[in-house]
Amino acid sequence: MNDLNAKRDDSFDVVVVGGGVVGCAMVRRFTLEGAKVLLLEKSPDILSGASKGNSAILHTGFDAPTGSVELACMQAGYREYLEIHHKLNLPLLKTGAMVVAWNEDDLSKLESIVQQAHSNGVDDVKLIDRLNIRSREPYLSTQAIAAVEVPGEYLIDPWSAPLGYLLQAMMAGAQARFNAEVLNGNFDGSQWTLETSAGTVRATTVINCAGLYGDTLEERLLGEASFSIHPRKGQFVVFDKAASKLLNAIVLPVPNERTKGIVLTRTIFGNLLVGPTAEEQDDRVHADLEGDTLQQLIDAAVDRIPALANMPVTATYAGLRPASDKKEYRIRRVAERNWITVGGIRSTGLTASLGIAQHVFSLYQGQHTALPADSLRWPVMPNLAEHLPRDYQQPGHGEIVCHCEMVTQREIEKALQGPLAAGDLGGLKRRTRACMGRCQGFYCGAQVAEMSSSHLAVPLATGVCHENH
Ligand SMILES: Cc1cc2nc3c(=O)[nH]c(=O)nc-3n(C[C@H](O)[C@H](O)[C@H](O)COP(=O)(O)OP(=O)(O)OC[C@H]3O[C@@H](n4cnc5c(N)ncnc54)[C@H](O)[C@@H]3O)c2cc1C
Repeated sequence: MNDLNAKRDDSFDVVVVGGGVVGCAMVRRFTLEGAKVLLLEKSPDILSGASKGNSAILHTGFDAPTGSVELACMQAGYREYLEIHHKLNLPLLKTGAMVVAWNEDDLSKLESIVQQAHSNGVDDVKLIDRLNIRSREPYLSTQAIAAVEVPGEYLIDPWSAPLGYLLQAMMAGAQARFNAEVLNGNFDGSQWTLETSAGTVRATTVINCAGLYGDTLEERLLGEASFSIHPRKGQFVVFDKAASKLLNAIVLPVPNERTKGIVLTRTIFGNLLVGPTAEEQDDRVHADLEGDTLQQLIDAAVDRIPALANMPVTATYAGLRPASDKKEYRIRRVAERNWITVGGIRSTGLTASLGIAQHVFSLYQGQHTALPADSLRWPVMPNLAEHLPRDYQQPGHGEIVCHCEMVTQREIEKALQGPLAAGDLGGLKRRTRACMGRCQGFYCGAQVAEMSSSHLAVPLATGVCHENH
């Protein structure tokens, strides 16, 4: 590992503002292309905004707007993830998806969904009938009339992936600073001077990946924002691991004018998920959970998979999409200010992040020499996926601390060390899954608090593991 403090002269080719999945992928791409890059993140850890709560689906782009930048970025991101995931030890679970018609209105739309998928180059998408659905999904309600099958959709680990992108960049010389909110900035015609809550930083180019605050950052540094963020909340219910045997593919709804409907999917961690809702709100920070809405999600899930009626719910959580006043991604380069905004990455950013980073690099005019491919180091990310060997199955792990998620002492210790050590409780949970299982930290919370007390800036009090995912 490089000495990360060696180059702290506070002058960079590129500063990326925001350590969500998009910012992490951006830092990686620009570093691999030879730029000296710094990530500034206002929270104590990465993935503190929109990227902490999503459905974790790697999409093919079959239903994205044809010809859009979003589609191009999704498909480039999808391809790059498939290319690099094994080198970073990132999991991939090929489940495929089905867009299921539950009524005649849905049915009338299936043909056009297939046509759009084919226009988007996703050629293996096809219609399947009731019998075919039944043979693949024996637990799905017999109300399913027909479906569009999308074989190429996958499930991934939404947290290890961006962590791996940033870690690889840091191994190649990138730096990251946390608790470093960009407050203000001045561009003198060739260089930016950024005032942050952790000091002053200089950079030739600034890339705005501030997610839910992308418009605020433009306002602060450019004087006015070219778009406005309208957070869109998505609530989820996570069923117990026993429920995951009730489903194979990701079950997607046929979107209608009012709603995109809810998704039923397994997770890479072995649970079954239902959600997300799509609720507009002004609050950019809090994603509150509402009992009635969660009950509606449970009812809808039971309606689709009747055997879920007896399944316990393990957890609930909500994420905020950084939606903007327009549907499309808000990516723009302001050449005369050495500025690139990557905003409004609302609901496909996990898939598209590596592709967005490629796209943004193609807009950037800096001259660098890319790092030779054979010089790149690939961090081996700890596996948290249920279908692959876990740490508790390997000798020397110490002991099992979280029995619900089978998290070992060794995994927790590793997550609290190194250049990208967990910065807060959420970060520790996302790196290990400690406190994320059936008991939500009731049993392991005290031990996790004790183990992390000397590492986290804000130590955990016993029993505070009950934080949203
Ligand atoms: C409910 C839901 C379901 C989803 N499902 C999927 C899915 O299945 N597949 C998929 O591909 N995508 C999915 N997405 C979309 C995906 O999660 C988002 O597109 C993505 O997380 C956006 O990432 P981001 O990096 O742009 O923003 P963020 O994750 O919000 O990152 C922005 C970061 O910038 C930081 N920041 C803000 N202002 C400043 C400042 N002034 N200084 C320093 N730091 C700052 C914030 O703290 C934050 O960490 C889903 C999203 C939601 C909410």
